[in-house]
Amino acid sequence: MNTYLEKFNDSVKNTIYSKLPIIEQEFIKEKSLELKFTFSEIKQIVDIARDLEMWNEKSIIKIFPEHEQKKVVFTRLKKVYEELRKKPNSYENFELKNIPKEQKYTFKTEAKEGFGLGLCPVASEKTRCCNLLTLDAVESCGFDCSYCSIQSFYNQNTITFDSSFAQKLKNLNLEKNKTYHIGTGQASDSLMWGNREGILDALFEFATDNPNVILEFKTKSDNIKYFLENEIPKNILCTWSLNTPTIIENEEHLAASLDKRINAARKVADKGVKVGFHFHPIVEYENYLDEYNSVYERLINEFEPSEVALVSFGTLTFIKPVIKQLRDREFRSKITQMPFEDASGKSSYPDATKQKMFKHAYESFKPWQLKNKQEDVFFYLCMEEHEMWEKTFGYQYATNNDFERAMLAAYANKLGMEFLV
Ligand code: SF4
Repeated sequence: MNTYLEKFNDSVKNTIYSKLPIIEQEFIKEKSLELKFTFSEIKQIVDIARDLEMWNEKSIIKIFPEHEQKKVVFTRLKKVYEELRKKPNSYENFELKNIPKEQKYTFKTEAKEGFGLGLCPVASEKTRCCNLLTLDAVESCGFDCSYCSIQSFYNQNTITFDSSFAQKLKNLNLEKNKTYHIGTGQASDSLMWGNREGILDALFEFATDNPNVILEFKTKSDNIKYFLENEIPKNILCTWSLNTPTIIENEEHLAASLDKRINAARKVADKGVKVGFHFHPIVEYENYLDEYNSVYERLINEFEPSEVALVSFGTLTFIKPVIKQLRDREFRSKITQMPFEDASGKSSYPDATKQKMFKHAYESFKPWQLKNKQEDVFFYLCMEEHEMWEKTFGYQYATNNDFERAMLAAYANKLGMEFLV
């Protein structure tokens, strides 16, 4: 008959117990032997210990309740943990740990099976979605944003190029009398690799050969060299994912600074390319609305609405594999220290918090809501439930197709293209 210690050692095998500091491992073992926690309780205690370390909060040893009854101890521990999770985040005394200082990865070029063109990997009927088609020009990303779900799809240390990408793009047979919206910024960053393996040559040629395609490059980099040195087809959109300096410094590791991103967008816009800005994720922390407001104001001061095709808003949504991956990594991040609520099967902020941040964002861009077709900027929510549109914009689309049509019509208009339904 297994002793409790044997059971304990078995239980922790399927957890990240071994990644905890030794002193915390010893402490959890001692308390488990004393109070006889179940496997599920042990797993939760281990995850709590890991989250507290990741959030740079007091360690589990410091917050562990003293009581002789297991039930009381476990209930009180969960309560303290949930209070820490729900308290407004602050990056003031946040100390980063084990953050990569430089990009370390290997490049691989191989003939890939199939062709990475498909519906946006996170699109769903449960959310109001734009039916974006994503094109995987490169697999895996060289940046290291803590909240990124892509990292759970690919091996992060290997950046893979498809040796037959250009040929497959040439062979792509799209309908000529239909407008398409294709983005290359999902499986990797669209611009950080420049024209490595000729990917930008191939994509620019594709845009030129397919004037009915709106090709969106989405990036967190300032690598615009190719755009400055080459003729840019008019059906190309260049969009930047932006965030506050606080989030960029603490959660978007290795990506370009806010200044570099905005300056790159300014240079590309100066070449007559239509640009756009994605605020996704908007993250809640102390004074976040003021900090986001400074970024919104800066864009309004530095760009004309006629130069900007879109501004999108979105926020944190987590799937379990990403939370597990974050806990597995021994680094610091406050990104999961938030009150979780179910959002179409994923974990996200409560609706009230989302409504507040999205309404604030949209209202901050009042100067760009001009009701003049030529200048008007297209605003949208990414990956949000239908009702959140009404609460944010005062209107909502009845279907994803309606949303897609409105978006493509607005983009085509801004790009001076004919909109083909
Ligand atoms: S709204 Fe966002 S998640 Fe939905 S399809 Fe468009 S890009 Fe993808």
